[in-house]
Amino acid sequence: MIYFDNSATTAVLPRAAETAQKYMREQFFNPAAAYSPAVKLERDISSARGVIARELSCEPSEVFFTSCGTESNNTALFGALHALPSNLRGRGRVLISAVEHPSVYEPAMELREQCYDVQLVPVDNTGRVSAEALKSLLTPDTRLVSIMHVNNESGAINDIDALYSIIKNNAPDALLHVDGVQAFMKEPAVKCDMYSVSGHKLHAPKGVGALYVGKGVRVRPYLLGGGQESGFRSGTENVPGIAGFGAAAEMIKPGPFPVRDCLKDLILKEIPDVQINSPEGSCSSVLNVSFIGCRAEVLLHQLEQDGIYVSTGSACSSKDKGSHVLSAMGLSPEAIEGAIRFSFCRENTEEEMRAAVDKLKAYVTSQRNLRSAFRKR
Ligand code: PLP
Repeated sequence: MIYFDNSATTAVLPRAAETAQKYMREQFFNPAAAYSPAVKLERDISSARGVIARELSCEPSEVFFTSCGTESNNTALFGALHALPSNLRGRGRVLISAVEHPSVYEPAMELREQCYDVQLVPVDNTGRVSAEALKSLLTPDTRLVSIMHVNNESGAINDIDALYSIIKNNAPDALLHVDGVQAFMKEPAVKCDMYSVSGHKLHAPKGVGALYVGKGVRVRPYLLGGGQESGFRSGTENVPGIAGFGAAAEMIKPGPFPVRDCLKDLILKEIPDVQINSPEGSCSSVLNVSFIGCRAEVLLHQLEQDGIYVSTGSACSSKDKGSHVLSAMGLSPEAIEGAIRFSFCRENTEEEMRAAVDKLKAYVTSQRNLRSAFRKR
């Protein structure tokens, strides 16, 4: 198998799986119980929290475990606005970028139903939010801005520190939430009020994520009950997931993925009429390429027969008609139709890149030949 869909999910690292299993089979206690093996679990959760906090460059008390990136994003958007004083609730502006993941876009649309003035900040042709575009949409009554750090389809990286300064200078009451699901431990930590991460994108088990909430930022809890996570998120803690997340984060080496450029060079050398959609300087875990004159969905299934797994967009939007991300970047319908996302992990090798390009070249050529023969008829 050649797996190039690591932005959708990753294989769990053996050490993270062993850690999770230990907390499922042996130390399976409820951390709220009063006997000592259970009490110890609180310390194990704290140590995982410490690892995530270190990687986020924040205090452990600012990290709250959730079930996934989607929950972190929903909690940030709804929680921050529901925490507003009652005279401000349902009023004011909310900004999100035009290329956000559905787990930000859909809550934003729900906030529009709740009478917030929700606006989309456009991106330029490199997929990044421009400082000018953001500045022109900020108003004194802007309450919340949500902009992703790394885009899941293109790999484009937003300059979050610069956008943070613009927001604080032009709309001092606005909070900045950043969806960092595709950036965490790949790109350096940034300045913001809230930051979402997800374990399964980083070789941890599924079912665990985290939300950074800066000191003094008010977020109303979404799940009420037993008061776990300092009252921020009630529900018996997912100790196997949390400990597995901590173990994975301890093991992962931050830094670039050199295989991306190897694949890009091979594609450009071997296959004519391609368009690289990942901009210069984008996150090296993603390469988005349009094979002009081809249907990406057909290529995906052809590659699948050889045990090569790629994506035509984000996993969550792969059933949609076309990518809202690529269309916001101004790509032609033909380029969108032929766009494939390759996304990497540290185990991917140059040999895998070569094998994949050999197959791709054959499938792209045969699809183009078939289409032109069809057109001539
Ligand atoms: N945000 C981004 C940018 C993503 O790519 C994803 C998943 O693909 C999510 C959020 C949702 O994360 P999760 O699958 O952990 O809910």
